[in-house]
Amino acid sequence: MSNYSKGGEMSINLIVGNEEAKKAITNQLRMKKSSGTYLLYGKKGADLLEFALAFAKGLNCEELEFDYCGKCRICENIDKEIYADLHIIRATEGSIKIDTIREVIKNASETSYENGKKVFIIEDINKLRKEASNALLKIIEEPPRNTYFIMLSNSLNILPTIKSRSFIIEVAKLKAEELDVNQEIYDFFLGNVQDIKRFKEENYVIEKKSFTECGVFLKDFIETGEFSSKIKLLSTLENFILEKKFINDIDKIVFSEILDKAVGKNRELLEEILYILIVKSKNLKNLEKLLELKEMIRYNVNISLILLNFILYI
Ligand SMILES: [Zn+2]
Repeated sequence: MSNYSKGGEMSINLIVGNEEAKKAITNQLRMKKSSGTYLLYGKKGADLLEFALAFAKGLNCEELEFDYCGKCRICENIDKEIYADLHIIRATEGSIKIDTIREVIKNASETSYENGKKVFIIEDINKLRKEASNALLKIIEEPPRNTYFIMLSNSLNILPTIKSRSFIIEVAKLKAEELDVNQEIYDFFLGNVQDIKRFKEENYVIEKKSFTECGVFLKDFIETGEFSSKIKLLSTLENFILEKKFINDIDKIVFSEILDKAVGKNRELLEEILYILIVKSKNLKNLEKLLELKEMIRYNVNISLILLNFILYI
């Protein structure tokens, strides 16, 4: 075992906060199970992936037992998400489809590339379609030797059959103090741990943007996926909430049309934007109605009308 001097040392215990989750993962590592199925859950904005990757490193690290060094080839490749025995499954177009799960099952039954432990991280397990979850159930019930499933979810409102087969670990959202940012920045990012860490690490700045520029940055964000566009987009949304008392109905209608046009057919993104507006507005009086309108985006045909209603209500 190499000896890392001067701050090179890494360990699960260096993750800020979430003492219970760290303890739970360390305990699981110590048990040396030959396979396992886990469910990591936490509110929107909690960094579930950080814990899933920590778990994967703990299982595979070349240097440390029941923990990780963060420096060996395997740890580094896991962090970069390029380790051959790490598979991260993400929802596409709002759901995880049966073909994706079939691929997982196929991969899980093949021999490992690295001769180590195979880890499948499945994000948004709550977005699993019914037939896909039925297919997954069998393999998570008794994973092949040296195979670990780590499923992530923002709620525990998932199939009981999946829940009952998993060891459940809760990951809490961090507070502003724990992230070492002021409340204003914390609220700007809705307490999203990944976003706040990135904002700090890469020295971004928050420029004030007018809500009238929302369409430009939304389009930009859709096209590039860049974090700087996301910040500008959030800034336009924040501006709308701050100014809404002084914005007349005509301008609100225009704002709704701009949003509608820029977001196109991406209902999931629109739902996300409405969620951001709801959280930022703190409008408790109309909360129920607003949530209802947000939900309707998923099922209704006339999205423009729902969006317009929402903007006038908020
Ligand atoms: Zn390592």
